[in-house]
Amino acid sequence: MRQAVEDYLKVIYKVQQRQRRASTSAIAESLGVSLPAATSMVQRLADMGLLRYTPYRGVELTEKGARIALEVIRHHRLWELFLARALNMPIDAVHAEAERLEHALSDSLEDTIDAALGYPTVDPHGDPIPAKDGTLQEPSHIPLGALPAGSKAVVRRVPDSDPALLRYLAGLGLIPGALVEVVEVAPFNGPVHLRVGDRQHAIGREVAGRIFVEPAPVQD
Ligand SMILES: [Zn+2]
Repeated sequence: MRQAVEDYLKVIYKVQQRQRRASTSAIAESLGVSLPAATSMVQRLADMGLLRYTPYRGVELTEKGARIALEVIRHHRLWELFLARALNMPIDAVHAEAERLEHALSDSLEDTIDAALGYPTVDPHGDPIPAKDGTLQEPSHIPLGALPAGSKAVVRRVPDSDPALLRYLAGLGLIPGALVEVVEVAPFNGPVHLRVGDRQHAIGREVAGRIFVEPAPVQD
């Protein structure tokens, strides 16, 4: 039960980052459950004071609900970084493990992992780690697909939950911290040609839109 509550709150928090109120259908879809199941759980969470639910108008977390969501997200992202750094797990494998481990993390182990990792602010996918006090700074990076030819940028964030996509990106060297140069952007929504290190690749426009970068300072 506790795990289900935490999963719902986390998903609602993420849906609410895109829109102020999360619809029950968006919640059901994100969790892979039926609409009636999501609706009855949402009602229970409302009874617990974790969210406000207005039928047909969607769901909004209360302060208490958002605090729990952020704590679970903090656990998830700390675990991901711990698994990647301390156990050398590839970045496409850490998300699935963290989905389980996030529900079982004591305060003292959380602090120990946080300190051992040097109080990190981002996970291996570049997602920001909420602070211990429950605050979360969302960085404002731009999609790689929005850069014109000739731009140089540093990869800062990749999608965390699609292992096949992550393996593909890692195979091209497109992981957080990598320096990329946009060589050519084909017209008519064609591929984006990139230089990563001494290799050149072409990736689809859709994928380029899901990689977030920080433009590199111009050098002469
Ligand atoms: Zn993850």
